[in-house]
Amino acid sequence: MHDPIHPDFSTYPAMTISELRQRFSEGTLTPAAVLQQLAGRISERDTRTGAYLSYQLDTALAEAERADLSLPLGGIPIAIKDNINTFGLPCSCGSKILAGNYRAPYDATVIRKLRAAGAIPFGRMNMDEFAMGSSTENSALQTTRNPHDPERIAGGSSGGSCAAVADGTAVVALGSDTGGSIRQPASHCGVTGLKPSYGRVSRFGLVAYASSLDQIGPVGTCVEDVARVLQAIAGHDPNDSTSLNAPVPDYLTTVNDGVKGLRLGLPKEYFGDGIDPGVRRLVEAAVAKLAAQGAEIVEISLPHTEFAVATYYVLAPAEASSNLSRFDGIRYGHRAAAPADIPDLYQRSREEGFGPEVKRRIILGTYVLSSGYYEAYYGRAQKVRTLIRRDFEQAFAGVDAILSPVAPTPARKLGGSSVDPLQEYLSDIFTLAPNLAGCCAISVPCGTTAFDGAAALPVGLQIIGPHLGEAMLLRVAKAAE
Ligand code: GLN
Repeated sequence: MHDPIHPDFSTYPAMTISELRQRFSEGTLTPAAVLQQLAGRISERDTRTGAYLSYQLDTALAEAERADLSLPLGGIPIAIKDNINTFGLPCSCGSKILAGNYRAPYDATVIRKLRAAGAIPFGRMNMDEFAMGSSTENSALQTTRNPHDPERIAGGSSGGSCAAVADGTAVVALGSDTGGSIRQPASHCGVTGLKPSYGRVSRFGLVAYASSLDQIGPVGTCVEDVARVLQAIAGHDPNDSTSLNAPVPDYLTTVNDGVKGLRLGLPKEYFGDGIDPGVRRLVEAAVAKLAAQGAEIVEISLPHTEFAVATYYVLAPAEASSNLSRFDGIRYGHRAAAPADIPDLYQRSREEGFGPEVKRRIILGTYVLSSGYYEAYYGRAQKVRTLIRRDFEQAFAGVDAILSPVAPTPARKLGGSSVDPLQEYLSDIFTLAPNLAGCCAISVPCGTTAFDGAAALPVGLQIIGPHLGEAMLLRVAKAAE
């Protein structure tokens, strides 16, 4: 039988959702056969890549038997980042504090919606602990390697989701994005990843990192697959008061409309110093390609860009310090042995359960929220966030979408604890602001470049759209693809 998943990068992209559906309806392929082949590829390739924390073939095969192939995602397997609750399965968040004995007591809304669309959740994907990081090296459980070069990071925090799609061990995947965690690993792995607008997709059942920034989004080998998964998971959810009660457009009807006559903005602050020349060349070539298809390219300004990193790294840790207080050794996960008293139980459960980056964020977040510093840090960061949001509102008054790099460089080498956290935070410069502003944004592969001794590493083009502008975003992305 023809391998439905690409055997190597020369035949990339893999078989898409629409091709799989076609084969299912012809009867030349079954969902069970796809799952078997994925499992085969996982045992062949994932020993090296390390994208999967676990998968349950038996359960998935049983679901494949029952799959309603007439549904939009009927019989399509989807890999799930390990911070999205899926009933009965582990949900470690890449952390020792949950890896031991926590099982999800319910399905996240996105999982419920995927099941309703016929999809089969298959696989729990590695991630930076509690989604804090840009490399997946902060996972307390295992290392995920970039399928294009095993000595390099896959990016993060949704590194497992993106590496698996790139490696052909997953058809599509879900990640989560608080400041770039879908787009940056998608860029580093050469796949497509979309962060929806804040409120477009329910966060119910996503383990919270920074609740005012977190969104769940799809990863795939092509724009159309990402559109199909977004279609299934978007929409209002009474269980998440921040999800918006706004109609969900049919993304596939406009995805091929092209960019002729659209105005696309290039923010001058996003093309300054510090960008690798190979990245710059590829992003500029992608822009030229869109111009050749009839888009009008205009220079714009997002004047508060330089404050995005500082603002994010005050607000996200502040929210994290509050969200992660629920891990107390009593209600969830790891509990320290033989505690002397309650404070000792809290203290040692957290000391033993959390990794260094999570502790750093909790300490930072507690500090910026503490009385005496609250106004100076948290209060001020909220004000700057408003200015950043206004930058985007003003820009979108004149352009349909904004183009930029995703990350200043392609994937760096694996470096573990030798990497300076501040340097790592600074590399999030292009992805944080859309989260702060609530905009939607996508990373689409735009070629490969030599970098730091590697011959060919993938680079992504970031397209940023206005709030709830996913249809426009996907349309521009399809033209750039
Ligand atoms: N790298 C950023 C952080 O560490 C973003 C992570 C994310 O989007 N979850 O917070």
